[in-house]
Amino acid sequence: MIISNGPVITNDPANPFVRDGAVVVEGDSIVAVGPAAEIRATHPGHETIDVGGRVIMAGLINAHTHAYSAYARGMAVHQPTRDFTEILENLWWRLDRLLTLEDVELNAGTTFIDSIRNGVTTVFDHHSSPHAVSGSLQTMADVAGRIGIRTSLCYETSDRDGAGVLAAAIEENAAFMKKVNTGEQDMVKGLFGLHASFTLSEESLDAACAAKEGIPGGFHVHVAEGPNDEPDSLAKYGKRIVQRFDDHGILGPGTIAAHCIHADPDELALLKDSDTTVVHNPHSNMGNAVGVAPVVDMLARGLRVGLGTDAYTADIFASAQVAKILQSDHLGDPTVGFGQALQLAFVNNPKICAHHFRKDLGVLKAGAYADLIAVDYRPFTPLSAESAGGHILFGMSGSQVNDTMVNGAWVMRDRVVLTVDEADIFARSTQRAPRIWAQM
Ligand SMILES: [Zn+2]
Repeated sequence: MIISNGPVITNDPANPFVRDGAVVVEGDSIVAVGPAAEIRATHPGHETIDVGGRVIMAGLINAHTHAYSAYARGMAVHQPTRDFTEILENLWWRLDRLLTLEDVELNAGTTFIDSIRNGVTTVFDHHSSPHAVSGSLQTMADVAGRIGIRTSLCYETSDRDGAGVLAAAIEENAAFMKKVNTGEQDMVKGLFGLHASFTLSEESLDAACAAKEGIPGGFHVHVAEGPNDEPDSLAKYGKRIVQRFDDHGILGPGTIAAHCIHADPDELALLKDSDTTVVHNPHSNMGNAVGVAPVVDMLARGLRVGLGTDAYTADIFASAQVAKILQSDHLGDPTVGFGQALQLAFVNNPKICAHHFRKDLGVLKAGAYADLIAVDYRPFTPLSAESAGGHILFGMSGSQVNDTMVNGAWVMRDRVVLTVDEADIFARSTQRAPRIWAQM
């Protein structure tokens, strides 16, 4: 089919912008991007989809989030909660223990639908449900498959719920990775999920690494998020977190280290030398008051820093906007952060995907997967290759996404999700959430 009648922001440096453009999709991939008149002449007989002047862009990528936190929306926390450690203890570690496999299914359903509604076509999720570990990743993969969203899934291995849950988590990651990382399909991939340094002993890290031995794929782990993480690692192991993880062989191009707020220059050098991905989550970091990641410094050092939402929102446009103003405010320099925010979302998130999926994502060009969106954004100043970044950062939002295509198939048209019964999933979640709130 030919998707046309709108400006195309391709995210492809060789052909960044087409004023009246068209994208040709065949099967799961894009075969051509160019001026609409030219495309129509060279591709006769193709079905034509008219996006009504909306902006055609590549589907967005969320490089770190947690579907399991979905019930937290609107929930009150009644315990006195003063810092990040108490946020974990009073909120997240109470919530995840209550989740059943049915909740895992509902949380994945609502989070992935919310992502599609915000134009996010690829989600890297970090899952936890300590009393429903076995089968949780396949449950999420089944939901993702029904909706039609591309995902990378992992289970958060941790010592905090005892040896039985730890063993189940290790088994869940290894079995799921073996299943999804070795076949032909490219819609769901697995990473080995680790919670964080301060909830994983040396023995647990050894067991996780031993179980992963020989299985393709990296790790997905929180690194130096709270201010207590580095002192904990130094006190228990006599070394900083990134060094500790490097000693276990956890770093590498397939591994995602979320946050890295308190990583020191030696740790940043280790992350760079090992080609490890770092993911910045500005909403979450500000909301949890855990500090500001040195994103400008990280990028200057050549680190591959991507952008995630950490479940604060599903809107990557909003996340990029917050990433910009956070760096400007933190560094006291209004000129800094703009290019960096765009680099995280539109250069580095696609690069991250290249380490997990076979064809290009986050770009509209021949050979890339046909993951794309039409954004109902009406510019009132010139939109061009040069100005597109400014329009994205100051004008666009996830709620403007009108249509979402993943892998060559429409998942949402005119803001209606086509693949699943959204109203039913949201109603079941709305019915279930208050019971979880009451138990907390
Ligand atoms: Zn997280």
